[in-house]
Amino acid sequence: MIYDNENIFAKILRSEIPCNKVFENNFVLSFNDISPKAKIHVLVIPKTPHIDIADFLENADKETQTGFWSSVNEIIDLLGLRKKGFQIKTHKGKDGGQEVFHFHIHLMSNS
Ligand code: AMP
Repeated sequence: MIYDNENIFAKILRSEIPCNKVFENNFVLSFNDISPKAKIHVLVIPKTPHIDIADFLENADKETQTGFWSSVNEIIDLLGLRKKGFQIKTHKGKDGGQEVFHFHIHLMSNS
């Protein structure tokens, strides 16, 4: 599978489609999921064109990977979730329930 530049998150990254932004830096964009499954439900996506977590872990350079997970750590604090608790979920592939083929994590909490 090759990365499709026309996927919806690529369009959000290019500002062709709006999003409800929560956080942004050089490495990631984070925004509210359009169809929340929890009281807090944000998505965190890297700015690099990786299809899914397997592609990201295999092919993204170390700085990109560290930048991504450090940003997730910042967002956990930004949303006040460090003590309250949260769930992180990611889907890989159609059989894994993935719908948008730009790597993303779901960060969710009912607190
Ligand atoms: P999945 O690929 O299975 O991890 O799911 C993709 C997620 O993206 C779903 O939870 C959708 O509700 C969410 N989603 C799809 N389109 C948008 C959008 N335009 N803005 C925010 N979230 C979206």
